[in-house]
Amino acid sequence: MTYLSTDKVEHHVHDVVIIGSGGAGMRCALQLADAGHRVAVITKVLPTRSHTVAAQGGINAALGNVVSDHWLWHMYDTVKGSDYLGDQDAIEYMCRAAPLVVKELEHFGLPFTRQEDGRIYQRAFGGQMREFGEGGLAKRACAVADRTGHAILHTMYQQNLRAGTQFYQEFFALDLITDDEGCQGVMAWDIAKGEYHLFQAKAVILATGGAGRIFKVTTNAHICTGDGGALALAAGLPMEDMEFFQFHPTGIADVGPLITEGVRGEGGYLLNSEGERFMERYAPIAKDLACRDVVSRAIALEVREGRGCGPNKDYALLKLDHLGADFILSKLPNIHELALRFGGVDCTKDPIPVQPTAHYTMGGIPSNRFGEVVARKGDDCEAAYPGLYAIGEAACASVHGANRLGCNSLLEIIVFGRACGNQVMRHLKKHPYHPELDKDCWQKGVARVDEWLKKAGKGSGMPISEIRTQMQTIMQEHFSVYRTQDVMAEGVEKLEALATELPNAAMSDSSRLFNTELVEAMELENLMSLARVAAAGALARTETRGAHARDDFPERNDADWLKHTLASIRDDKVMLDYKPVRMKPMTVKSFPPKKRVY
Ligand SMILES: Cc1cc2nc3c(=O)[nH]c(=O)nc-3n(C[C@H](O)[C@H](O)[C@H](O)COP(=O)(O)OP(=O)(O)OC[C@H]3O[C@@H](n4cnc5c(N)ncnc54)[C@H](O)[C@@H]3O)c2cc1C
Repeated sequence: MTYLSTDKVEHHVHDVVIIGSGGAGMRCALQLADAGHRVAVITKVLPTRSHTVAAQGGINAALGNVVSDHWLWHMYDTVKGSDYLGDQDAIEYMCRAAPLVVKELEHFGLPFTRQEDGRIYQRAFGGQMREFGEGGLAKRACAVADRTGHAILHTMYQQNLRAGTQFYQEFFALDLITDDEGCQGVMAWDIAKGEYHLFQAKAVILATGGAGRIFKVTTNAHICTGDGGALALAAGLPMEDMEFFQFHPTGIADVGPLITEGVRGEGGYLLNSEGERFMERYAPIAKDLACRDVVSRAIALEVREGRGCGPNKDYALLKLDHLGADFILSKLPNIHELALRFGGVDCTKDPIPVQPTAHYTMGGIPSNRFGEVVARKGDDCEAAYPGLYAIGEAACASVHGANRLGCNSLLEIIVFGRACGNQVMRHLKKHPYHPELDKDCWQKGVARVDEWLKKAGKGSGMPISEIRTQMQTIMQEHFSVYRTQDVMAEGVEKLEALATELPNAAMSDSSRLFNTELVEAMELENLMSLARVAAAGALARTETRGAHARDDFPERNDADWLKHTLASIRDDKVMLDYKPVRMKPMTVKSFPPKKRVY
């Protein structure tokens, strides 16, 4: 037992600590708690408010309930969708495991929508075809109406309560406890009570979700601030492929909330100001169900060429009223409500104004298919970092490569949440005792909060909210759907200058209890480091691949760029490194890069 050199900090000892109670964290916790391990889940919000709750369209699995399907076709679509940047061993693992984990969810009590014959309801989603793109649309997305994430998160929470997982809710993770031996725990702040806690563990799992809030217009909740990635960066680890940020083609215009791709999967389609179904020109086969990067670029081009809709000619229309009110209200009820509330449109009668909106963080903490965090050690760029794991949207396994397929993310969080739980159990067998802690290991975490509180009410710098808005605007204007050298270089310059303002930012609230301004300040620190690595990686990558589309380099360049970016922050400078893509699957033949057409 380690005794800390302070009584300022409450010390907890668990086998495993998971940061994040989204689908990834909770699926992992369940695997471990059911096996009898002492699992703690730390979450900065109530568990069921994690962003997984907002997921709409579904979770992919080649069940073949509607039309025949095969996991290998799913794998092919995922590799092609990733623009060949995805690691093929991890993709094979995920697609093969999909039918198993979805049936497992069903047995956990997840209330899937049913077909007439009682089997799970499946709908079409973007970029997914049968028979290696030759056999027409696949129907692979298993859905609970348009509230699939809500059902997954609540099912997982209830199962964890049964299994005895211990939740620490409204606790904010501040700092990873690491040394040369690896990771031994995490420091956290109890937001409600204003107290410090140290969690000592044999394994720490980062399941903190995405970082959509680096952009101004996003489908992501306010809590999606990439905290896990920032913790990893602060511990000296790199982030992988952060320049690849998915813009979902159909956010509600001007405001951002998501209209699921499931709308197009069920037969909805996009129109420009001339009433034309323009996707037929860009993707003659898949049309409105081409991959997200393709559809987002098409909308951006229509707008650029003057065929946008509305007073400013800056959005497209998503038409679905022809599906009929009964169908919409039973299969897409949430969309009906969102369109009404945020867009002022009754979609059973009128089309919804839509625009591309920042949606998904393809990059993340470098990890492998076992959920282990990997880092460079000498010549090995994939050495497991002892005791540290990353799963879900926070991680980069990398199953999505340069562009994620719709409904592969809910799949990823369940598959790798489970796989990581199994890998941690192997780790626990080999490491039955807690590593010793340095008695001063709590200090960095405590200082992070104390420094903000000390200067509260005194700073003369820019307010936190103002810095955040400026950062989001820079990312939105300089690193959007289409990118060019000059625009991005200017963006990097502005961002680096803004980052220097952050330590002097003005905070007014000095209270310790439920200080939301303090939480926002620390979230902004996290967002800023992620924005910096994303921007630097984007500027360096002189090609177009997946979501990273450059006007000045319009083609994919496999000779120079079929590799992952690794960006870290050393001495407050962003440093870039690269590592090869894992082209070799586990058991099947590799899918070599070829031209992507839909
Ligand atoms: C609107 C929307 C719709 C989507 N629809 C679909 C869909 O239909 N199909 C699909 O496959 N994907 C969809 N996605 C993507 C998918 O939902 C997410 O990628 C996935 O749910 C992420 O799960 P997660 O467990 O990794 O993270 P999250 O669910 O985001 O959970 C993150 C957790 O980390 C905790 N946390 C973060 N930082 C800290 C900190 N500093 N301290 C303590 N705790 C912390 C949070 O409290 C939270 O519990 C959608 C995403 C959005 C935004």
